[in-house]
Amino acid sequence: MKSSRSHHCKSMDYGEVWIEEDDCCYLNINHIATEQDLEENHYLEEEGQTIDAVALNVLYCPYCGEHLDEKRDEIVPMFRFLDLSKL
Ligand SMILES: [Zn+2]
Repeated sequence: MKSSRSHHCKSMDYGEVWIEEDDCCYLNINHIATEQDLEENHYLEEEGQTIDAVALNVLYCPYCGEHLDEKRDEIVPMFRFLDLSKL
């Protein structure tokens, strides 16, 4: 599968966030467990593990506004959601 990280800007340093280019650009965000998450969800094992993750297709970076896919100006919105908290 062809995919590559195609964009990075300052706000993305503050979380597990990245943009991947495939058939279009996807914004990926991982939700990372904090100490409080561990207290509330006993399926979780350690701080820093991924609880769930979402990827949604975007045309613009939501953080800096850069146009990520200059070949088009509209997309069909969709997202993928991955729940990793009960594995
Ligand atoms: Zn950006």
